[in-house]
Amino acid sequence: MDCIFCRIVAGEIPGEVVAETDEILAFLDVMPLADGHVLVIPKMHARIVEDLPERTSGALMQVASRVSAALCREFGAAGTTMGINNGAETGQTVPHVHLHVVPRFPGDGAGSLHSAFPGFAKDANPLPGIAERLRQQLSDWAGA
Ligand code: 5GP
Ligand code: ZN
Repeated sequence: MDCIFCRIVAGEIPGEVVAETDEILAFLDVMPLADGHVLVIPKMHARIVEDLPERTSGALMQVASRVSAALCREFGAAGTTMGINNGAETGQTVPHVHLHVVPRFPGDGAGSLHSAFPGFAKDANPLPGIAERLRQQLSDWAGA
């Protein structure tokens, strides 16, 4: 097995596990962006969120929500930034889905997720056209 997160799930390499369910594992990031930076992962190997059964992606967010609340209670975080680098081109370095939950504190100097997209020309493509294309793509989905 050459996936590092699958090896943590299997107990082959150590991880500071903070929560576990039948489908999900949550453990500390080894190179944290803040004290209490947690990675929430599915136990099954999947590269990107779209490869997960929807039940599992739901369970992922359920655990992340619990972890976030615990970080606020225990560390006095003012909130958490949650994010997934979903695919190699987005900066994903470990090709096993992982949701970052990073506690945030006043004055920590980190920006919002919006600050990751400084160069985008907002007004180039009007919203109605973008929305219509997406509606077409999503129209055969029962949950729409
Ligand atoms: P990415 O850039 O793929 O979104 O994030 C990967 C994260 O995994 C990084 O924040 C990195 O610190 C963390 N990481 C990489 N290898 C290990 C490991 O062996 N153990 C733990 N706990 N975290 C890891
Ligand atoms: Zn894996």
